[in-house]
Amino acid sequence: MNETGVLRTVDVSSSDKFQADCFDSDSLGVVERIQDHGFSAYFVGGCVRDHYLGKSPNDYDVVSNATLRQIRRMFRNSRIIGRRHRLIHVYFGHSKKVVEVSSFLSPPEDETESVGTEESDACRRDFSINGLFYDPSSQRVIDRVGGVEDLDSRLIRSIGDPWDKFEEDPVRIIRGIRYASILGFDFEENTWDAMEGMWESVGLANKRRMQEELFKFLYAPRTDVSFETLDELGIFELLFPQVSFLLSDPRFRAITLRTLSLMDKLSVEELSQGFVLAVFMLPLLESIEDIGEGSLASERNHLRDILYDTFAPLSRTYSLSRKSRFKVRLLLDMQLGFLRGPDGKQKRILRIDEFAEGLQLFSMYCQVHGLGSEMPKRWADLYRESCF
Ligand code: ATP
Ligand code: MG
Repeated sequence: MNETGVLRTVDVSSSDKFQADCFDSDSLGVVERIQDHGFSAYFVGGCVRDHYLGKSPNDYDVVSNATLRQIRRMFRNSRIIGRRHRLIHVYFGHSKKVVEVSSFLSPPEDETESVGTEESDACRRDFSINGLFYDPSSQRVIDRVGGVEDLDSRLIRSIGDPWDKFEEDPVRIIRGIRYASILGFDFEENTWDAMEGMWESVGLANKRRMQEELFKFLYAPRTDVSFETLDELGIFELLFPQVSFLLSDPRFRAITLRTLSLMDKLSVEELSQGFVLAVFMLPLLESIEDIGEGSLASERNHLRDILYDTFAPLSRTYSLSRKSRFKVRLLLDMQLGFLRGPDGKQKRILRIDEFAEGLQLFSMYCQVHGLGSEMPKRWADLYRESCF
């Protein structure tokens, strides 16, 4: 049916997949405290979606009919933040955790009303799968946007008219692409049509948000799939014109997709931004012919030129930090040394602080090129010996 506004509540207390017991205890405490003060409070968005699918969420968002000032007064460890959407961060020092709490969003035409209703809040969200509320006290999912049905049928569907939704905020187009890839969902037809019709508006989005999105893509699983969809719509070229050949040139495309897919095997929480960017840029090494066989000096110069033409402008567009920029250059440069093997003059690499990250990248390079694990292993052994 998927009719926005029709209320459906789903009892998940005996669901096998919806692990109500596994809700984060600090976040549960936040909901309970707001409810104890006589207000309504629900979990909302990605955490409800992920619990419904039996996955563990990245973070927990809470929504309430209390005003931000009222919520702020309930938590000593909290702060009001945000420019576009103001919300409260509740901090839990012991776990460095932050729970985001906001008041119900009011309808767009009624910005003066500081607190909306459950209905107006659900309708302001992007996709039906992100518009569900969960009340832990009754263990019920509250669905006004057809999100439960779309989770069951594995569909990404805009809440309301997708053309209006994407015009209001084009970043939603790439959020949708990310969810479809991560969850392995399809797009509902009208949502996909609007994406095809409006993809160019992504270029209007503010650069700070786009930087956030770039890293969300790189840290999320299945970056290869999401980049393929970005490419299908023309958005990859729009976002990354400097390196669009990574997907448009067949010589680079297979290598790039295989390299990105290997990131799913790493535990991403521990990876630095510089490292994930270096993985993205690793296929640039394909531009160096007979890599590892010519003079090291000329290969290093060649790499520097390639990075100057591609990564440097991309870094400016996305205002990448100096630390990340330095790390990308260093990690790619180290590959030239790794490729020459541990027997020659390349032992300088062992003393570089980023040795472990460089070697991690090298082992990805070897996997992508079918070079096996022998050479990375020899470097790892040598490194271990050099530490004694
Ligand atoms: P993730 O797993 O990436 O954290 P998420 O769905 O929790 O996914 P968040 O960016 O944490 O995404 O946002 C939380 C919720 O806020 C979303 O589920 C959605 O309901 C709403 N939201 C976030 N960004 C937008 C947006 N641009 N437009 C409309 N609603 C949004
Ligand atoms: Mg989230």
